[in-house]
Amino acid sequence: MSKKVLVLAETREGSLRNVSFEAIAAGKMIADGGEVISVLIGNGITDVVNELVAYGADRVITVEDAKLEQYSSDGFSQALLAVIEQENPEGIVMGHTSLGKDLSPKLASRLNSGLVSDVTAIEADGDSPKFIRPIYSGKAFEKKVIKDGLTFITIRPNNIPALEKEDGRSGDVSSVSVDITDLRTIIKEVVRKATDGVDLSEAKVIVAGGRGVKSEDGFKPLKELADLLGGAVGASRGACDADYCDYSLQIGQTGKVVTPDLYIACGISGAIQHMAGMSNSKVIVAINKDPEANIFKVADYGIVGDLFDVVPLLIEEFKKV
Ligand code: FAD
Repeated sequence: MSKKVLVLAETREGSLRNVSFEAIAAGKMIADGGEVISVLIGNGITDVVNELVAYGADRVITVEDAKLEQYSSDGFSQALLAVIEQENPEGIVMGHTSLGKDLSPKLASRLNSGLVSDVTAIEADGDSPKFIRPIYSGKAFEKKVIKDGLTFITIRPNNIPALEKEDGRSGDVSSVSVDITDLRTIIKEVVRKATDGVDLSEAKVIVAGGRGVKSEDGFKPLKELADLLGGAVGASRGACDADYCDYSLQIGQTGKVVTPDLYIACGISGAIQHMAGMSNSKVIVAINKDPEANIFKVADYGIVGDLFDVVPLLIEEFKKV
């Protein structure tokens, strides 16, 4: 049965995040031939609406206000609620990102509706779509079916492929005006940590280091390899706790969840909490001097050896390509 589905787009510094396009693809599966409407909330954001249409949105609704320049729970809730009230959808999809993790339970509880979070795949074969999500820190997966009523769905970034971009596709664009009131928090300034290179959560290649890297300096060859492959550097909590790198690089249950095309784990033992954040990567390469290390259980390619010998060899080889 076809459905009307709202899909929340996410921007960062004026550009759409990839998860916005993946959410449209998820919305299409849920809508089953029904309408998929992208909702874009912010200030001065209309430049990107055509991109949402090109990636499959049938319509785009914008909510613009100076008070929506930065994400706030109160502001974005009011904006999205106004669109929900106007459109009366059956499903609302957003990324399982910091924003989605904050907004979806808040609104689901406010509207007394369902929520399926952290969805990594959707089976849509004509019946009610089945939502697949990891449980027990990724040790198992469960399949959920929604009976009826409004449901919020958050999708894990980098798992549901976006549709092919179709430039020149047409779709209606309209706006909803909302009087944003009673904001309990106002962001006055955003101080960004200087980052060099690729955003870890969207990187296609990640070279991650663990306690085996042994020092801050030990991360230098990993960074060189990541740069060479156009990727980003990540870390285990072991490496962060040991102060070899910043916690913003932590991957795992209490860090970032990543699904790059290639994940190179260097000196990481493969604790369940680390694997919860990376085991869905497409190809995993593990470098560890302990042949019994747990990480080899999820690795597609395992190299038993000292990372300080292996990583320079990889750098040398990739430089030839
Ligand atoms: P270790 O377990 O010490 O492993 C180091 C590895 O390096 C070993 O396998 C060793 O053989 C290898 N090694 C050493 N030297 C070399 C060398 N020269 N060359 C090659 N290999 C070498 N962890 C996370 O990563 N992310 C999380 O989000 C996370 N959340 C957690 C949440 C909770 C509630 C708890 C309790 C724990 C959490 N942890 C998390 C911690 C997790 O349990 C592990 O302690 C941590 O992942 C271990 O990090 P590690 O693999 O770098 O270190």
